[in-house]
Amino acid sequence: MNNPFYNNIITILGCGDSAGVPRIGGEWGACDPLEQKNLRSRPSLLVQSSTSAIAIDTGPDFRTQLTKEKILDLDGVLFTHGHSDHVNGIDELRSYHRRNKKHMPIYTDEITRQELLHRFSYVFEQKSAYYPAVAEIHVLKDSDMGIEHHINDISFVPFVQDHGDGVKSLGYRFDMVGYSTDMVDLDERAIDSLRGIKTWIVDCADYHKPSGYFHASFSNLKKLNEKIGAEKLFLIHMGIHMDYKKVLSECPDGYSPAYDGLKIKSDGSVL
Ligand SMILES: [Zn+2]
Repeated sequence: MNNPFYNNIITILGCGDSAGVPRIGGEWGACDPLEQKNLRSRPSLLVQSSTSAIAIDTGPDFRTQLTKEKILDLDGVLFTHGHSDHVNGIDELRSYHRRNKKHMPIYTDEITRQELLHRFSYVFEQKSAYYPAVAEIHVLKDSDMGIEHHINDISFVPFVQDHGDGVKSLGYRFDMVGYSTDMVDLDERAIDSLRGIKTWIVDCADYHKPSGYFHASFSNLKKLNEKIGAEKLFLIHMGIHMDYKKVLSECPDGYSPAYDGLKIKSDGSVL
């Protein structure tokens, strides 16, 4: 991929599973509450250039995540799929509209567009003079997969992932970094989109299982990466069963659990 924009900064806003760590009320499971890296918010990613910023998904922790990173203006959102832990913070886009009066460009596939319109129609349709639409959806069609797109000076390549039980999600490549949340398997076309990346931020919610059903297991990932060839893999979508230090101690070279706030350059190097 011949892309001049290799200086973008990618921040893992949330590497937790749908319930986060700890779960509501303070359930830590196998995770050590004294280890800061076990504090995991719901899945989201931020990509920043020197002039622009985009988010991937707007989960239930979106306001806290974007406030922590001091993102006063956002130039777009890429959605991976319509599950609640990835979309339920979408109302927060209204605060950006209050500031910049622009409709937030959203990119996703047709199924997710329909889910967003069904559940959050007021975000996309003007309901009254006092309650304007704040976002507009651009559909990524099958012919858009594996192709480079841009929001301002940030490039992204979408690809289709298998999320189990007939559900599809979108993964995204940003230069030399791949982002695959909510994925159990990838077909050859998706693998082609990722081939050559240096760093892969990747779902491993079913870490301990021989094979995942909705989410990848560790053995799923190892097999996929034999074809993709990433040098570094950061595991995400981790629940209370995955203690940071224990998982790190079990990981072979190149693999490690992610943590909220981890920053990676789009050339694949870790900041
Ligand atoms: Zn999901």
